[in-house]
Amino acid sequence: MKIIRKKLSVQGVVQGVGFRPFIYNLAKDHNLTGFVLNTSVGVVIEVEGIANSINDFIKDISEKKPPLAVITKIAHDQMENKGSKEFVITKSDESAEISTLISSDIALCEDCRNELFDPNDRRYLYPFINCTNCGPRYTIIDNIPYDRPFTSMKEFEMCPECQAEYDDPSNRRFHAQPNACPVCGPQIHLYDSNKNIVDTNNIIDTTQKLLKDGNILAIKGLGGFHLAVDATNEKAVKRLRKLKGRDEKPFALMVGNIQNAEQYCTITNDEKIILTSAIAPILLLKKLDDINIAKSVAPGNDYLGIMLPYTPLHHIILEGLDIPLVMTSANLSEEPICIDNTEAFERLNGIADHYLVHNRDIYLRSDDSVGIFLSGKFRYIRRSRGIAPRPVFVKSKGPTVLAVGGELKNTVCLLKDDKAILSQHIGDLENLEAYNFFKMTIDHLQTIFDAKPDIIIHDMHPQYFSTQWASEQSIETIPVQHHHAHLAACMAENNLTEPTIGIIMDGTGYGTDATIWGGEILIGDYNNFDRFAHLERMQLPGGDAAIKSPWRTAISYLHKTFQKDIPELPFMENKDIGPIIEMLIKDINSPLTSSCGRLFDAIAAMSGGRQTIHYEAQAAIEFMQVFNNIVARPFSYVIDQLGDNREVLLQPIIRSVVRSIQNGESLSKISNRFHATLVNIFIELAQDARKETGIKNIALSGGVFQNMVLFEHTVLGLEKANFKVYTHSQVPTNDGGISLGQAMIGRNRFN
Ligand code: ZN
Ligand code: ZN
Ligand code: FE
Repeated sequence: MKIIRKKLSVQGVVQGVGFRPFIYNLAKDHNLTGFVLNTSVGVVIEVEGIANSINDFIKDISEKKPPLAVITKIAHDQMENKGSKEFVITKSDESAEISTLISSDIALCEDCRNELFDPNDRRYLYPFINCTNCGPRYTIIDNIPYDRPFTSMKEFEMCPECQAEYDDPSNRRFHAQPNACPVCGPQIHLYDSNKNIVDTNNIIDTTQKLLKDGNILAIKGLGGFHLAVDATNEKAVKRLRKLKGRDEKPFALMVGNIQNAEQYCTITNDEKIILTSAIAPILLLKKLDDINIAKSVAPGNDYLGIMLPYTPLHHIILEGLDIPLVMTSANLSEEPICIDNTEAFERLNGIADHYLVHNRDIYLRSDDSVGIFLSGKFRYIRRSRGIAPRPVFVKSKGPTVLAVGGELKNTVCLLKDDKAILSQHIGDLENLEAYNFFKMTIDHLQTIFDAKPDIIIHDMHPQYFSTQWASEQSIETIPVQHHHAHLAACMAENNLTEPTIGIIMDGTGYGTDATIWGGEILIGDYNNFDRFAHLERMQLPGGDAAIKSPWRTAISYLHKTFQKDIPELPFMENKDIGPIIEMLIKDINSPLTSSCGRLFDAIAAMSGGRQTIHYEAQAAIEFMQVFNNIVARPFSYVIDQLGDNREVLLQPIIRSVVRSIQNGESLSKISNRFHATLVNIFIELAQDARKETGIKNIALSGGVFQNMVLFEHTVLGLEKANFKVYTHSQVPTNDGGISLGQAMIGRNRFN
């Protein structure tokens, strides 16, 4: 049998994820000698042994890799034998570790969970148990290399037992930086609303009792504080809404396990895998009828956002607590989540009845990730805790780029080599706290990824805070059109490089003609784009005021269609439409928009759906929920040729909708017909674009594609028409994903 030696270099997310102990054990299993080492270009392994064993070893690396490792490439070369006698983990020099990637925060693993509930384990019910396969990462790091002194665990010196685990290459806790136990690690404390320590000999029992009694608890988690309350207690949930200043936007729930979740929602196998994954996101699931959940948890919504416990503390609280909990980010509406104990006491004063805190600091806040399973894939609505800062690997190399995203649902993206590192969800930058968080996150990402951008990319909108921040920096900046960024983001995560047709249906984005875009068919790549088609432009009376009151938008669309002869419709009752029409006629603060989001608002409101909204897209969401059948007669529409561009005339649609309303058609039927109409329009325009350009690849992006009905039927329709359809599954289709597209376009233009 021939003995050979090979050198392997492994790239991807391979640090802080238990990769070296895994390689160590795998090499031993295959009777190989040699070493494993972290370097600046990834993990380097040399193995010596029987040729077949080495082949099996290489195969096993990909197949059996630790759950959190992401391998993008394994290169291997044969080399001269060295006659090594054992396999060792070689200590890497610290500077070498700098450019390996920082892992995301990870939900409690199965092994740790078993230990947590094992009365004979030394970490029995210890709320900070973790190992190399699970625990906090990104949120506790403030510098590199990723090593305990650069994390918030530096306050805690490991006891001899923990240290022995940490030093033992065969141990699950080998180099687990947050390793801790009840003797040496962080502890929890319970405070009342006056910041007095609650006198109890069992904090968890007391916490559970307080929750059962309907109290609001601020609970410190992984990426920030949650406010928790009994989700079956209508009075308690209502009180939380009132105190938090959150009217109707759905609250997420945390339930003990899958069986509990199944009492409230239908859950497929794929959805179970997501719920129990290391990311442990809030997953939107179809609500069952007649469930024992307070009405005000998700008023008027067919879906519930459900997550499972992901920190050991959550597990301990939920274990034996037979109620589901509302778990919502601890903040006032629109502010970023609280992370610091003192900050929590201040900002949550008057909201929380009790505070369950701990003394492991959170350096970087990170909200829960949110997603939904659609067309066979998990899709992010918010990409944050559990996944950030895992890179999206792209087909591009070049200068380092910082893209600062949009205004709402902001994320930033640091593009370094072939890795697009998106930040966690930052939020709405018009909020001062969120803006500070935005600046801090930019600093933090540059530090922990050791990257200095050569260029900064921002949205074309001159008033966005992100744009203003970019203009204050001393390096070159490039503006990118909002919907071009949406298209490029979808192309990038699907590794497309050729020109692509983009169906970009969105709320708001600043156009190259200084009007508001949002219903766009673009054809483009990372350099440039053509606006192939767009929805007819309509006035938005009062701008943002119209976004909050869809009925105003409805009046505008009707006014444009019928001018003086606006028909009386039931939705107009008790509304003062005169001043709106005057605004439109005199063109006072009534910007033009081709937004698809606004079209949804207008149709929903005029058909008798929601008139004013309490959270973003509420009118469209409710209008979608009354949909029940795509086989519906579409409304008539006209696509007008305008030179090289096309315009989808909306007036014919408005006329047919009005006829339906006058004929007494139900909201449901109008919803069916409207969704069918849009799908037909998209397919027709895509076919036109294909005819003109020969392009078959289509990318779908923009916030409107969070509409599950529209998304799934558009995908089906386009596939049936023989298009190759590309969609988002690594970054959100909403503005949380545009920083990726900005970065790709920016790098291309800078080159
Ligand atoms: Zn673990
Ligand atoms: Zn210890
Ligand atoms: Fe957008």
